[in-house]
Amino acid sequence: MDKVHDQDYIANDTSEQVHNDQDQNTDIPYAELSGMVIETNDLKEVISRYFDPTDGYCPKCGQQDFVIMRNAKNGRLEAWCCFNCYNGVYDVIEFVLWIEDIDETEAVRQLATQIEILE
Ligand SMILES: [Zn+2]
Repeated sequence: MDKVHDQDYIANDTSEQVHNDQDQNTDIPYAELSGMVIETNDLKEVISRYFDPTDGYCPKCGQQDFVIMRNAKNGRLEAWCCFNCYNGVYDVIEFVLWIEDIDETEAVRQLATQIEILE
């Protein structure tokens, strides 16, 4: 659980992330695992476990700048940001690491556990 991840995660760069390391508890390569986590977890449902996103108030800064965005290609609500304190286009993994204040590896592990990829 306290695995140290020696790669820095650059929050605003979602297109160029390269993860060649494998998760310790599974044979699934990290990149594949994070893809499955994003595919399978419903962003709005995950957010709703922490706060009600419908009024747009950000739980971190308190401004009414929190939005969930729809992917025009597949129609899924799968990106979010707070225009005030966390501006960008973020996925469900980034949401969990942001709200829980944990690292990316741990966020992926939590989400994978919830969809029962990991125990
Ligand atoms: Zn905010």
